[in-house]
Amino acid sequence: MDQAQTLPKPGPVEPSPVSRGAIELGGITRIFAGGVTAVNGINLKINAGEFFTLLGPSGCGKTTLLRMIAGFELPDDGTILISGREMQDVPAHKRAVNTVFQSYALFPHLTVAENIGFGLKMRGIKNPERKKRVDDMMGLLQIGSFGGRMAAQLSGGQRQRVALARALVNEPEVVLLDEPLSALDAKLRAELQIELLRMQKRLGMTFVFVTHDQHEALVMSDRIGVMERGKLQQIGPVLEVYERPKNIFVAEFLGLSNIFPIQPSGPNQATTAFGSLAISFPVGTARYAMIRPEKIAMFNESATPQRPNVFQGTVREAIYMGASTQYRIELLGSSGQMLMALDTNSSARETSWPAGDVVAVELHPDNIVLIEG
Ligand code: ATP
Repeated sequence: MDQAQTLPKPGPVEPSPVSRGAIELGGITRIFAGGVTAVNGINLKINAGEFFTLLGPSGCGKTTLLRMIAGFELPDDGTILISGREMQDVPAHKRAVNTVFQSYALFPHLTVAENIGFGLKMRGIKNPERKKRVDDMMGLLQIGSFGGRMAAQLSGGQRQRVALARALVNEPEVVLLDEPLSALDAKLRAELQIELLRMQKRLGMTFVFVTHDQHEALVMSDRIGVMERGKLQQIGPVLEVYERPKNIFVAEFLGLSNIFPIQPSGPNQATTAFGSLAISFPVGTARYAMIRPEKIAMFNESATPQRPNVFQGTVREAIYMGASTQYRIELLGSSGQMLMALDTNSSARETSWPAGDVVAVELHPDNIVLIEG
């Protein structure tokens, strides 16, 4: 008998219990002409009402994945379910999804209110219902005072608020956002991050947000998926991904980190280039240890605590950054092992330890994260 006949045929994916706004990706792959595998077998469940962020460096495939959820791009393999419904034969304009891009093209000849109400008008929603919904949304986004202005007469930040209002007023089940804040200056961006987050919680829609900015991902998300070269390296709640990165890529991409090789020397003990390290968890087969700079405590040389995991080193660089100072410390007797430590500037004083000072650093056993090879 032919072997193919003995294997069960792959059946259609069973729709999950319908959950408005939930997204399920099963083995999604996209290979572009020329052989670039932009997205490589991604499996992912995004919960209804969740703020989910796809985070990764430029070219890792975030936008391609988002475009496939939106229906602008078709996968070469895999399934996409939105609210439990298979999307293969559903064109972009029929999906319960609205997308906000980095530079959202508003209609320049329409007023702000007309821009926001455009989608509702197309769907045949008449006044006074349409006007009420547009007014409510302008109120939420604090753009009510210029509803009569032409879109061309707005600043970048105002334009992006209108773009968001235009997507949200349609009450889609899912809002897809592709770096929508990246063109704004730092202060406005920080303000809009918080506003967007508040609005998402209030409206209860599912948000899938794409960014390469790790700070933005940490501030806004319920969960993060960290992407590298078309694959998801780790998916989890913000705190879990930051505090317990699974591999070196995630540890380095999300925040600052000190990563060094270790040799197990006991159940909870390892040897490093700068001495023996006590760790609160069984070392097992881990090859590396990681500690975040802000979790390293610093002391004057004369006040070196007599505790495990305290090492002395010479400050090689001290960078004052306003709220904190970032130190690079060369550990004594380690043939050049550097550690980065971040000390909060809790009083209005000069940098505590200028370059050349000898200090003590404590790597508390609870703050060390083990990473497999
Ligand atoms: P960025 O943050 O720079 O926008 P990204 O993570 O969103 O990057 P994608 O735009 O999804 O990455 O691109 C993923 C890979 O696919 C890249 O190597 C890119 O060059 C390639 N790619 C994207 N679109 C096409 C296309 N239409 N044809 C061929 N290759 C493409």
